[in-house]
Amino acid sequence: MKTPVDYIFGETLPEPGQVLDVAEGIRWIRMPLPFALNHVNLFLIDDGDGWVLIDTGIGLPETQGLWETILANSLQGRPITKILVTHFHPDHMGCAGWLTEKLGVEMWTSRAEWLSARSIRLDDSTEFLDNLVSFYVKTGLGTAMAGELRTLGNSYRQQVAPVPMTYHKLADGDLFEIGRFKFRVVIGSGHSPEHICLHCAETGIMLGGDFLLPRISPNVSVWWSEPDSNPLNDYFDFLSGLDRIDPEILVLPSHDRPYRGLDKRVRDLLLHHEERLDLAQEVCSTPSSAADVMRRMFQRELDTHQTRFAIGESLSHINKLLADGRITRRLGDDGAWIYEAA
Ligand SMILES: [Zn+2]
Repeated sequence: MKTPVDYIFGETLPEPGQVLDVAEGIRWIRMPLPFALNHVNLFLIDDGDGWVLIDTGIGLPETQGLWETILANSLQGRPITKILVTHFHPDHMGCAGWLTEKLGVEMWTSRAEWLSARSIRLDDSTEFLDNLVSFYVKTGLGTAMAGELRTLGNSYRQQVAPVPMTYHKLADGDLFEIGRFKFRVVIGSGHSPEHICLHCAETGIMLGGDFLLPRISPNVSVWWSEPDSNPLNDYFDFLSGLDRIDPEILVLPSHDRPYRGLDKRVRDLLLHHEERLDLAQEVCSTPSSAADVMRRMFQRELDTHQTRFAIGESLSHINKLLADGRITRRLGDDGAWIYEAA
């Protein structure tokens, strides 16, 4: 799904350990990730006396090393005064605890993101993994793949420094002022429970986090902790709530590059998921498991890590079809859910 957005800096990217000014008072940092999606964008926003940092990078030594370089060279002698984390995923929350401790500053995020981060980071129980396995068996992936998914374990603990024990809560509609920017907090659900976007209408800037990516569509998954959730419906609600946004707005996304063309992008994201819903329904015209739907939606070789996202994404479409009465579900003899057109 290629939306013809306007990348305002073309191919230019900040070098590792460097910053790039993207607007007056906003600096762009690009941190590496050890996945197919190999980077995450962070932003420093001029707060007068210092900088407010948006997101922190994954909690691995390479990121921390780059942070040492940035802290020493790229802040014009002014401190980071606050850290805002858009959502709990490792590439955003990973270094938050490490940085708040090191810099003596506090963290701002939404309640559900903080609670999610705290609970997953603290949970090293085997029951957590047992639960995960029985969920993946129900998806029809089979016991061998469910076992492999178990071996991934709770990778969150390896990728995220201990999460701050206290935080400052941001809620939908809050005003969050940073220097010349009067940001409005826009909370959305789907990719994560209470993801934060920041919108400044006066300067025409939107920090889009993972919700408004220019090229890939953010992963919208059902996870074992909430098997009947309908995150795709939540994501639709978020996207359709953006209908009056200025098409000239500059979007600063968490992956890829800053762009204009949000109106076109939102339309394409909605269309993309509508097409995927139709495809999932078509697969269910013969009785099918979630794994059957996944193999039609993702027609390529998937490793274990990718399978976890692909099955979750397939289930988010299935659960929306179920909620909309387009398919039905029953438990098959082999313990996997079977879906059929209603
Ligand atoms: Zn994310």
